[in-house]
Amino acid sequence: MEWLSFGVRFLCYQKLSTKRLTLFALLSYGTTILSLAQGARVSWSDICRPKSEGGLGIRKLEDFETVFRLKQVWDLFAKDGSLWYAWLHRYIFRRKSYLGNGGYTPLSWTIRKLLQIRPLFAQFIRCSIGDGKKASFWYDSWTEFGPLIVFLGSTGPRDLRIRKEAKVIDATRDGDWFFPGARSPSAEMLLLSLTNVPPPDSLRGSDSFLWRQPQGTFADSFSTTGTWDQIRVTSPQVPWASVVWFKEGVPRYSFIHWLALLDRLPTRDRLRSWGMNVPATCVLCSSYSETNSHLFFECEFARSIWLPLASKVLPNTPLLLSHTSSWILNNTPTSAPHAHGKKIIRLLLQSVIYATWRERNARIFTDTHTSAAAIKLSIDRTMRDRLLSYPTQDSRSVTLLQYYFGCMSLPL
Ligand SMILES: [Zn+2]
Repeated sequence: MEWLSFGVRFLCYQKLSTKRLTLFALLSYGTTILSLAQGARVSWSDICRPKSEGGLGIRKLEDFETVFRLKQVWDLFAKDGSLWYAWLHRYIFRRKSYLGNGGYTPLSWTIRKLLQIRPLFAQFIRCSIGDGKKASFWYDSWTEFGPLIVFLGSTGPRDLRIRKEAKVIDATRDGDWFFPGARSPSAEMLLLSLTNVPPPDSLRGSDSFLWRQPQGTFADSFSTTGTWDQIRVTSPQVPWASVVWFKEGVPRYSFIHWLALLDRLPTRDRLRSWGMNVPATCVLCSSYSETNSHLFFECEFARSIWLPLASKVLPNTPLLLSHTSSWILNNTPTSAPHAHGKKIIRLLLQSVIYATWRERNARIFTDTHTSAAAIKLSIDRTMRDRLLSYPTQDSRSVTLLQYYFGCMSLPL
């Protein structure tokens, strides 16, 4: 329960209500981080964004459920061999198209849910015509105009003299398309377009269904991630994602770094803005008001930890957290061994943010003080321990730990 104790130390300390403390205590590892983010007043929509868009990469349950339903309906089209789907075809849809106008006898909540999702489903499915015996002429999307019942309207079946239950093959005679003359501009467009579409042919096998992929193309398989990516609300990419989230990072450090970048840590200025009666002064320097930008790293105390350590790895160390990401991304080479510098400086940055926040909490809630020199030594120990766990694959190349030792001349 490392996360739980971490949470209690870092955010529950903020004099949150007993109810919320109890709630935290009941949370398991996976949900604790979410509650911490909510405790720090990060909106649910922010949390649910992918990490590359500034969120925590959590998927909304309702989006997850929608993708699950879409998959169920896709299987209805793609899984001919399943007994359950054969049963649905025979007893529920009774040879009518799933995308048709209804007239079914929904038996259960599950089937009602499958029917409710039809408008969304129609946007994802396309039909590739083979022998034309499976695709519904009116309800499947097999032309560039989408479902023809929508394109031509409810009078379409009468105008083209093709019944609603017809398959695509029913619109042919002797291997060619067969229609009466067009009676509307839309019908004219359709007939003109079909002159470029080969009629159904048994040599092409049976009709098959295709699923829309994120790039707008269609493929014969369902992609859960690709579908989720298309139904969720997207946000612009954030340049700092790779600075916060990376393989060598420590998850709880990354999380505090993420909150700090979003200015969502419960600093004293924020607590006061919520109406809480807390002092305004920074407990690390006792000189200025405690704000996010003061702690990272305008504060003299925090700066005395960050500056000497970071300047050993990269020159021109910025003193504002908001400048650190571009500083790291623009100044670290991607080729080995200097690429090690990027991993080390990111780990160092999140370690300093974490240690600063921890010291701030310790001073407020347990009245214990640690000197900047002792904190630097502690960060150095953490860095060594972490980097030790990443040996190089190739015995001749420099390890992360060796590169770190090369940077860190004494005194720290
Ligand atoms: Zn300060």
